Amino acid sequence: MIYWILRHTGKWHAWERGANKSLCGTITEYDLRMYPAKDIYREAALPAGHVRCMRCTNKMTPTQIAACLVHENNSPEVNDWIGLIRRHLAHKRVSLAKQKVVALAQRLAKIGTPQEPKARIAYERIKALLLTPRFRRVNSGSYSRNLRVLPEVAQVIELLPLEDEQAMQKVVTTLTLWQKITKRNVAHDNGRPAQIVKTILDVQQPEAYIEHLAGRGIDHLAAVFHPNTFNRAKKETSLRGAFDKDGAEYWEELKGQLNVVSDDE
Ligand SMILES: [Zn+2]
Repeated sequence: MIYWILRHTGKWHAWERGANKSLCGTITEYDLRMYPAKDIYREAALPAGHVRCMRCTNKMTPTQIAACLVHENNSPEVNDWIGLIRRHLAHKRVSLAKQKVVALAQRLAKIGTPQEPKARIAYERIKALLLTPRFRRVNSGSYSRNLRVLPEVAQVIELLPLEDEQAMQKVVTTLTLWQKITKRNVAHDNGRPAQIVKTILDVQQPEAYIEHLAGRGIDHLAAVFHPNTFNRAKKETSLRGAFDKDGAEYWEELKGQLNVVSDDE
């Protein structure tokens, strides 16, 4: 782990945690006591636009350089999202590998900046689905944190390719619809995010699908977006073909009679 120390020269020197001098050897603990650092940045990845000491950089290991470049190559929007995600994770006291944080930030940046409502809603859903540990009651009657959501982040990222902007948007829209129809909250329902996301991407008529299940008393997030539920819904005679990729045309004919999809949306 590396920290960055700004000297009066305007250059940032790398300081390994626990070391007694900068990587380049130019600054020692004694120097820092005599001439306090102008600034200290406690992250391996120095934000773009800052000048790194070249002698320090040359001493960095490939891993340290990779960690450093993670931020430097990102656009300001991506870095804004990285900051928001990290603050949320710190608040929830959970950690997530930097690459995964960056991958999520890049996908959010495709939807918009943190100031744009559309992107903000996307962030709220993704945060609730993926980055928020659930609580579950244990035998003693107290609650324990269930961190199962985090290990699935990588699988979810894989399901949402960066170049396919529609995929991420579809997940967000569907989760919002589900909340609206069932009056439940993504952050409160347990489930396996990767399985939920995969099923969401398979469902072609999310509103009709969720309404259909809610009418039958199925509304829990994990139940609605479980592959078995989806497969069973596809087989129901009255709605055959309505929810899968080939059923769009069939559904067009059927939706007037079923009256579960409103055209004004
Ligand atoms: Zn240096």
